[in-house]
Amino acid sequence: MKTTTMPRTKHASRTRSASRGPTAADHRGMLEAIAHDLWWTWHEPAERLLRSLDPLQWEATSHNPVALLGGLPREVLEARLAEPALGRAIASVHRELLRYRAAKTWFDRRRRRRAPSLKIAYLCSEFALHESMPQYSGGLGVLAGDHLKSASDLGIPLVGVGLLYQHGYYRQQLREDGSTRVLYPRQDPALLPIEDTGVRFQCPIGNRLPQVRVWRQRVGRVSLLLLDTDLAENSAADRALTEGLYKGEPQLRMEQQVLLGVGGMMALEALGERPTVVHLNEGHAAFAGVWMLASETHRGTSRDAAIEAVKRALVFTTHTPVPAGHDRYPLAMVEKALAPVLRFGGLPKGELAALGCERPKQAKEPLCMTVLALRLCGAANGVSKLHGEVSREMWTEAYGGVPAAEVPIGSITNGVHVPTWMHPLAQRFWRGQKVALPAPAPDARPLADARKADAAGLWNLRNRLRVELVHFVRARLRQQACCRGGDHDHLYAAANALREDVLTIGFARRFATYKRAILLFRDPKRLARLVDHPTRPVQFVFSGKAHPRDLGGQAYAQQVFEMTQRPEFQGKVVLLEEYDMAIGRAMVAGCDVWLNTPLRPHEASGTSGMKGPLNGGINCSIADGWWPECADGRNGWTIDAGRPRRTAEDQDRADAAALYRLLERELVPEFHDRDRRGIPRRWIERARRSAATVAPAFNTDRMLGEYLDRMYLQEPGAR
Ligand SMILES: *Cc1c(COP(=O)(O)O)cnc(C)c1O
Repeated sequence: MKTTTMPRTKHASRTRSASRGPTAADHRGMLEAIAHDLWWTWHEPAERLLRSLDPLQWEATSHNPVALLGGLPREVLEARLAEPALGRAIASVHRELLRYRAAKTWFDRRRRRRAPSLKIAYLCSEFALHESMPQYSGGLGVLAGDHLKSASDLGIPLVGVGLLYQHGYYRQQLREDGSTRVLYPRQDPALLPIEDTGVRFQCPIGNRLPQVRVWRQRVGRVSLLLLDTDLAENSAADRALTEGLYKGEPQLRMEQQVLLGVGGMMALEALGERPTVVHLNEGHAAFAGVWMLASETHRGTSRDAAIEAVKRALVFTTHTPVPAGHDRYPLAMVEKALAPVLRFGGLPKGELAALGCERPKQAKEPLCMTVLALRLCGAANGVSKLHGEVSREMWTEAYGGVPAAEVPIGSITNGVHVPTWMHPLAQRFWRGQKVALPAPAPDARPLADARKADAAGLWNLRNRLRVELVHFVRARLRQQACCRGGDHDHLYAAANALREDVLTIGFARRFATYKRAILLFRDPKRLARLVDHPTRPVQFVFSGKAHPRDLGGQAYAQQVFEMTQRPEFQGKVVLLEEYDMAIGRAMVAGCDVWLNTPLRPHEASGTSGMKGPLNGGINCSIADGWWPECADGRNGWTIDAGRPRRTAEDQDRADAAALYRLLERELVPEFHDRDRRGIPRRWIERARRSAATVAPAFNTDRMLGEYLDRMYLQEPGAR
C-alpha cells in the first residue's frame, strides 16, 4: 500500500561499485532524498548545496529543490553531477541526513522508557514549514511547523495531519492604488516536496463520500500527512474541499473541517498509525473528537465511558482571544454533515448540541468548534500566561457558568524553532563567541550566556545582517515596481530604497485589524520628524497580508501603502508584498527593532518577536501576548500608555502617543549614543540581554517539553 516515488539510497548503494565510489546516479538519488526531506531547511550546508545547483532557478522556484531538480535539463544536471567537488558535497550532506535520522535523541535518552508506546497525532489546518510549501496564512501555521521541527529534533514520536490545498492560502499583490489583488496560483503536487503514500479512502461528509488521497511530507524524523480530494473521480464540490485555506462560504469551511477532523483520523488508521494522544492545534480539527467518540460507542462502550476514553487521548490548544476567530456553525448544518458519523456510533442527534453549543438549552445556539474541543478534551491550554487567563474568562459558559478560576484551561507559552529563525551568520557569531547553542533538549536554554558576547563583534553582526536585509528589500521592491508596470524612475527608486546604516524597525504580521499596522501613522508629521531627522534618522520595513474577506485589514494594507508613497516617507518607509517565511527570515535577521502594536489583550501570544533576538534584534512591544512574561525593562522596550482606556479609539490614541514618546526619547537616542569606536554600548547591552532572556525560554524545544510532560504524558486530571 505504501509506495514512494523517489529513488531510495539503499538501492543506489547496491548498484555502487566498491572501487569507484558513488556514481552520478547515486548522487542523484542522494539529492532526491535530501530534497524530499524538509530537514534541509534548517541545516545550512544542505541549503547551500541545493541552492548551488542553480541559483537563478532557486530564486524562481521559491527555494524549492524538488521543482528545481524537476526543471533542470537532464544534460545540465548530468554535467553538474560529474563534478567531483559537487559529488563530495552531496555525499557529505547526505551522510549528515542519515546521521540525523539514526542518532539517539533526547526522547530516546530521557523519556522513551517511561512512554514506550507514545504516539501523538497533531492535527492542524495549516503548517508553515518553508516558503516552498505555501500552505499557511500566518502565526498558527508557523507555530505548527516549528512544533514538527522540534518534535523531530527531540525525537518525540509525533505525526502531523493537515490538508493539502491546491493553491494554498493566496498570493498578495498590491495594485498601484494599494488595493489588494488576490491571486490563486495552482500548485502542482508533483513539484512539491511530498510523496504519495498510495493510501486512498473515503471520508463521509453528509450524504457524500469523497475519495481522499494521503500525501506524506518528511520533516526529519517526523511525517506530516496531507489530505487531498483533488482527484478526477471526485465531483467538483468534493474537489473543492481542498481548494484553498480559509477560503469560501461557511458551509465549505465546515466541510473542510470534517475532512480534517474525521478524515484525518481515518487517514491515520488507513496508514496503520495508532495514536495514543490526539492534539487538536486550534478548534478547526475538533470533529476528530466526535469521530473518536463514535468509534468508541460503535465498539459497544457506553456513552459516558466513551467520553472518558476520548478525554484520555485528546488534548486541545486554543489560539485566539478574538471572538470572530472561533468558528461557529448552524447546528443543523453540522448535524447533517456528521450524520453518518453519528449513525456509525449510534449517537443521538442531540449529542452534538450537548457537546458543541455554548448554552445547549438555548434555541438557535450555533455549534462552536472551540466549545466542542473543550468539552471532549482531557486538557486544554492557551498559548501564553495572559492568554490562559483571558481564555478562562472567555469560556465560563462552556462549563455551565463556573467562576473563571475553575475553568480548566491552562497555558503553555509558544516558542520558535531556533535553527529555522537564527541566521547562519548569527549562528557562526554565537559559536565563535563560545555562547552555547546546545544540542536539542527542552532544558538546553540556548544563548543563555549571550551576555558574554563581545560588543564590537555583535555590533558588527548587526551591521552585516542589516545590510543583507536592505539588499533583500531593494530586490523585492524592484520586482514589485516591475509588476505594477513601473518605469525606470520607479525601478531606480526601488534600487535605492533604505540605507545600510540607518536604525531599521520592522513590522510584519497578518494585517488583522487588532494588530494595528497603522498605529505608527496616527500622526504622520510627528513620524516624519523621526524618519527625516538630519542626524538620527529611522527607517521602517512593513510586510503583511490581510485575509481576502477582511476588508478592514486590506484597508490597513492600503493605508500603509499610501504612506510609503508620500514624499517624506519614500524609500524610508517601505512595504513588502506577499509576507511569507522568506520575508520573515530576512526581516527578523536584519531589523534592529521588532515593532508589535496589538490592541491588548487580543494577541494570544505572537511568535515573530521571539525570532529577532536570536539575531541580536530587540523588541518594542505593547504588553500583550508573550511579551509581559519576558520583558524586564532592560531586554527591550514596552509601549506603555498607563491605565487602560475605555474605548478602542482612546486606546489607539494613547498607545500611539506612548510609542512616539518612546521612540523619540529612548529608543532612537540609545541607538545613536556611540563610544569612541562608534559602538552603541547601551544598545548592545540591551541586545545581549534580549538574546539571553528570549532565546533560552521562548523556543519550541522548551515548549515541546512542556507539552510532553504536562499534556501528552499525563492522565487527565493530573494535567
Ligand atoms: C513568525 C511568523 C508569523 C507569526 O507572527 P506573529 O504575528 O508574531 O504571531 C506569521 N507569519 C510569518 C511568515 C512568520 O514568519
